[in-house]
Amino acid sequence: MSRWSVLGCGVAGLCVATLLAERGEDVEVIDDESRRPASWFAGGMLAPWCEAESAPREVISLGQHSAAWWQQRVSGVEHHGTLVVAPPRDSQELNRFARMTEQHQWVNPGEIEPALEGRFARGLFFAEEAHLDPRRALSEMREQLMQRGVRFKTQHPQGQIIDCRGIHAAPELPRLRAVRGEMVILHSDEVQFSRPIRLLHPRFPCYLVPRRDGHFMLGATMIESDDASAISARAMMELLSAAYAIHPALAEARIVESGSGLRPAYPANLPEIHYQNDTYYLNGMYRHGFLLAPMLAEQLMQRLFAEQSHEYSA
Ligand SMILES: Cc1cc2nc3c(=O)[nH]c(=O)nc-3n(C[C@H](O)[C@H](O)[C@H](O)COP(=O)(O)OP(=O)(O)OC[C@H]3O[C@@H](n4cnc5c(N)ncnc54)[C@H](O)[C@@H]3O)c2cc1C
Repeated sequence: MSRWSVLGCGVAGLCVATLLAERGEDVEVIDDESRRPASWFAGGMLAPWCEAESAPREVISLGQHSAAWWQQRVSGVEHHGTLVVAPPRDSQELNRFARMTEQHQWVNPGEIEPALEGRFARGLFFAEEAHLDPRRALSEMREQLMQRGVRFKTQHPQGQIIDCRGIHAAPELPRLRAVRGEMVILHSDEVQFSRPIRLLHPRFPCYLVPRRDGHFMLGATMIESDDASAISARAMMELLSAAYAIHPALAEARIVESGSGLRPAYPANLPEIHYQNDTYYLNGMYRHGFLLAPMLAEQLMQRLFAEQSHEYSA
């Protein structure tokens, strides 16, 4: 019988299972394989300073060491920073973004990303930021967990439950809401980028995250909705026109995939840990699952094992 049963195979569940397994704990992971996790659709940006434009400051304090956490556990963590640009008509957006954020420098974008030579007069470079490929990271974590003897099942949890079901836990967590995010995967041999490019726009900001072999993740909408259906035509058009504004050669890119994921969010858009009805809940990752799940999982460990040593010493 397992001591811990982690529900959910998204980034939150796998981070928790990893830390438990690293402590030598007996863990099983229960997943509903019929549902694609929101984590599957993520961009994989580890960008605490850019996110501070619209997020509480805790996102910086919790997220700034996350790239190092990932680097110790999975391959393919790229430490090339983030480049933020804006079309000439929206260049005031860059000033606003600079005021709202820190740890950046003004640059000529073409000097950071040669493919952007001559396209944008100026940009903001966040040198400390990183990115990873979420699908690769999730599958490597899962593989490592299996090598450590962690069992993956679809039902019948037998240990103390740690619920990391993302938006699927909403019936038990009534403050949790869904924020729909639509995305596209492109393939192009014509354009090469080494780092995420964020395009500012007053109505529709978007980003392009490079993946392996000429692939790019293009995202993402932010819609207050629990509709998990396929990408809308409108979102597809807006994302593609933003990609075109970053580089016209992307007009010839191939659309390899599109999709949508539901980000689980609490009212403050910050993750929370709860204990209720004999269950621990780690949820509310919002748009920061890869950025914040490692630190939230570390906090959960402190809570679990502090409570436990307290129990034993009582
Ligand atoms: C388009 C998009 C782009 C994003 N980009 C980024 C980014 O660049 N950087 C970043 O840090 N974050 C990003 N995010 C946010 C991030 O993806 C989410 O915060 C994160 O995926 C939430 O993870 P989770 O593990 O809580 O939930 P999920 O990933 O949704 O995982 C929930 C898991 O629970 C399982 N489950 C459901 N029901 C049950 C059940 N009954 N029993 C057992 N298991 C069950 C599901 O199968 C799934 O495996 C993005 C999100 C989207 C949608």
